[in-house]
Amino acid sequence: MNSNQKKPIVYLSVSQTHGIAELSRQLTFFGFECFVFSRQSALLAAMHTTAPFAVLLGEAGLEDCTAEKILPLLHKLSRGPLLYITSSLSVAQQIHLMKMGVSDFVYFPLNIQKLIERLDVLLERSQRTPYRVLIVDDSETMGKLSADILIQAGMQVQVLKNPLDVFVPLERFSPDIVLMDVYMPQCSGDEIAKVIRQKTQFDSVPIVFLSTETNRNKQLMARSMGGDDFWVKNMPPEELVASVAMTCERYRLLRRRMSCDSLTALLNHTHIIELLEREVLRAKKETLSLSFAMIDIDHFKKINDNYGHAIGDQVIKNLARLLQQSINGDGSVGRYGGEEFAVVFLGSSLIRAAQKLDAWRQRFADLIQSSGDIQFHVTFSAGVAALKNNMDVAQLIDAADAALYQAKHAGRNQIGLHQN
Ligand code: GH3
Ligand code: MG
Ligand code: MG
Repeated sequence: MNSNQKKPIVYLSVSQTHGIAELSRQLTFFGFECFVFSRQSALLAAMHTTAPFAVLLGEAGLEDCTAEKILPLLHKLSRGPLLYITSSLSVAQQIHLMKMGVSDFVYFPLNIQKLIERLDVLLERSQRTPYRVLIVDDSETMGKLSADILIQAGMQVQVLKNPLDVFVPLERFSPDIVLMDVYMPQCSGDEIAKVIRQKTQFDSVPIVFLSTETNRNKQLMARSMGGDDFWVKNMPPEELVASVAMTCERYRLLRRRMSCDSLTALLNHTHIIELLEREVLRAKKETLSLSFAMIDIDHFKKINDNYGHAIGDQVIKNLARLLQQSINGDGSVGRYGGEEFAVVFLGSSLIRAAQKLDAWRQRFADLIQSSGDIQFHVTFSAGVAALKNNMDVAQLIDAADAALYQAKHAGRNQIGLHQN
């Protein structure tokens, strides 16, 4: 993991009998920084010093204090989710605990995989970047009015007076939504929307017209010109905030669905190749080094055969997570297909990329995979190639593929380097 990207911190108070050691080990493996507490004074002191991303509190997690007693204090100090781990609870008990600040319930016996997935979702929610809103309105007063409301709600806003300049903020600010006035002196909102819709790169940016116009026919016409919705101007502030947030969220989700693989949430085949194409162009222009690797799980068919497809999927997810975390800011990972992954290493020489891959290979091989009570290990092989001046993208992929073939041929669980 990069030193410049901090690991999310998790505070754990779960009793020994409930497998705290294994939980802590797995959380650490999957990129969380874990601190275990058995006494309330230590936990509270730590909360004061460094607020963690999440707290996991077992029902008998602390030796010297009940959950009931410490929950209100934790709630006051914590800024993130507070997960309560328990054997069973009635609905009334759950409501009682939620009132005391518990945000999520987790049950014994712990399904660590599920718990980690839950933490991932919570983490993503907490790290979500603010929605970016572009307001196009010739009236400074009107534009500022909406802008102030949205900024108050934590959004980032740019206001543009001249619709003819719209491509500058579209490219530089990359808004999640465009709020477009309809009547402007330079051109009308529907005209400019139509021009924006000519460029496919902005296909997934919703354009909403804001107008005092209430004539239904005119509204419909505006929509046929490339707008996605039509809202009345001067709607109550909370309604504006909610409408903007909902629309942004929907489109962010849609964009993610289009570019990400559903099992692993990594970039899908099309998008990792597109990214590679872009980065190859940039690397050549700016004479930066770039390496590309193909990773393929060893004897994966046997895993499906022995443990079933669902466990196979789990293994794919584990590797996806490891890769996503390990690459951090140094490149990108995609699911190339089935049990194959592609990695673009930015600014890495062949040797450096191979070293990283080998470290990941070792970590993956050490990871305990499980199917019920059965534990097993899985390995992968990889092939890596560095971009040369005379290579195009297809040749770079072929080179990595050939190196992967060598690694498989030489016995698997190793990294093949494309040399020439
Ligand atoms: P090798 O070491 O040579 O790579 O052997 P292998 O068994 O991993 O390779 P092979 O290409 O023969 O088999 C890959 C298997 O992966 C075949 C396919 O059924 C399985 N597979 C592909 N996609 C998925 C998936 O999404 N989930 C699961 N569970 N299995 C998948
Ligand atoms: Mg394969
Ligand atoms: Mg394979």
